[in-house]
Amino acid sequence: MISSVPPIRITACNSNRVNNDGDFVLYWMIAARRPSWNFALDRAVEWSMKIKKPLLVLEALRCDYPWANERIHAFVLEGMADNASELAQAPALYYPYVERVNGEGKGLVEALSSNACVIVTDDFPCFFIPSMIKVAAKKVRVFMEKVDANGLIPLRLSEKVFQSAYHFRRFSQKNLLGLLRQQPKALPFAGLKLKALEAIPKHVSKRWPSLFFEQKAGIRGLLDTLPIDHQVRPVGCSGGSREARSTLNTFMEKRLPFYKEYRNHPDQDAESGLSPYLHFGHISSHEIVKAILDGGSWSPGNSPGKASGQREGWWGVDENPEAFLDQLITWRELGFQLCQKRKDYDKYESLPSWALKTLQDHSKDIRPSIYTLKEFEEARTHDPLWNAAQKQLLEDGVIHNYLRMLWGKKIVHWSPTPRDALQFMERLNNRYALDGRDPNSYTGIFWVLGRHDRAWGPERAIFGKVRYMSSENTRRKVRVKQYLEKWA
Ligand SMILES: Cc1cc2nc3c(=O)[nH]c(=O)nc-3n(C[C@H](O)[C@H](O)[C@H](O)COP(=O)(O)OP(=O)(O)OC[C@H]3O[C@@H](n4cnc5c(N)ncnc54)[C@H](O)[C@@H]3O)c2cc1C
Repeated sequence: MISSVPPIRITACNSNRVNNDGDFVLYWMIAARRPSWNFALDRAVEWSMKIKKPLLVLEALRCDYPWANERIHAFVLEGMADNASELAQAPALYYPYVERVNGEGKGLVEALSSNACVIVTDDFPCFFIPSMIKVAAKKVRVFMEKVDANGLIPLRLSEKVFQSAYHFRRFSQKNLLGLLRQQPKALPFAGLKLKALEAIPKHVSKRWPSLFFEQKAGIRGLLDTLPIDHQVRPVGCSGGSREARSTLNTFMEKRLPFYKEYRNHPDQDAESGLSPYLHFGHISSHEIVKAILDGGSWSPGNSPGKASGQREGWWGVDENPEAFLDQLITWRELGFQLCQKRKDYDKYESLPSWALKTLQDHSKDIRPSIYTLKEFEEARTHDPLWNAAQKQLLEDGVIHNYLRMLWGKKIVHWSPTPRDALQFMERLNNRYALDGRDPNSYTGIFWVLGRHDRAWGPERAIFGKVRYMSSENTRRKVRVKQYLEKWA
């Protein structure tokens, strides 16, 4: 099939045949939870056009995944409400399904596959998703493929595991101009004549009823009834593609002009706030990059085109968008590349050998303070700045990026061992952070322990050659007065 989706982004999950006698093409939306700028959706639409069958979009939400709680569920459900109203305008049937009892959703995709021609799903290299896809691909009766809509650099463009941001940046710079010509569709259904599916097969809808979204407000009532962690409450910001776009617009208008100078200062609030939307796939990095480049009247001629690996100057735009694009592309996608290539991305042993050695050499060093997970969790350390960052995480589901680095470093400082520190960081980050359970979570947490970094001197107690940070220095370097007033 001639496809507008680059073949390198498409991976067959099984060797079953396409069933041309089926009733529909199934797009099983599990990571790129958005109705546009989505290569996987584009691919599913192409299948529909090719075999002239309607499109069914299944977006499901389990309740038994690790750390399932009200905060995460609310954000996903708000996204589903947006998808329901967007896709109501499209020639596709949207099927939102929310598990109400652990394991209730088991068998749903398999059951749908008996009526499907072909299944397309999202390729996401982290959390429970790769193994869920593997299991499903064996059970379904038709051909299934997964599509990588994660970022600008396709996951499979290189076999290499990039050790540093510099090496990955240089690789990206060699490829980006070509890759920018491959965009997912902003309007995936525009001008298409697709027959819409009237209803979900009865044998499926009877056992797995679709959730009807009247409005986002109804979501809170639903949460009460689900078997998830009710201690982690929803936060003020709401999920979904619409909110994601409005967050992007506000950022471009109000904060991007000061991003480079102010992003490290918690008092300045200059970051985009996009990470939760990126994590749940409510917005695509392609859409963000296009908006940023259009805003700077960029054209390919602006870029000097030399792949030097330098952080600044490659795009040939103002220093603020340049700094932001480096975070969004280099730092974000570095983690996606690593998770796709190393199945042990979340294991302590995956740290570089120099970091393992130096942390081991200092494993017996006396810790100045030692806290339990509970004390960390309840923000009960002796350090007001650390406690403030943890409180922001508990209440807002985010931590300012600069303080997130300090937050991690101090957990290493005050835990019995670096392995304990890893376990504590993973638990706290993934339980409370809206953007947790993401390749970026593992980039950040493992960076704290030395991954994607170099050895530093002088060698210190506990950290050895791993980069050290202190609250005193942080207070001197970045503005935290208002931050402390708010959170301490
Ligand atoms: C210990 C620790 C844990 C972290 N856990 C997560 C996590 O669970 N999820 C997560 O998305 N990020 C994580 N980060 C990275 C970073 O803190 C967040 O991406 C950033 O704070 C998100 O805020 P923003 O969207 O406003 O960022 P902006 O500054 O507006 O950046 C835009 C985007 O660029 C990417 N980005 C920015 N900084 C980084 C970075 N240092 N590493 C990787 N990507 C980056 C993100 O996708 C972000 O949304 C962690 C960092 C550390 C040190």
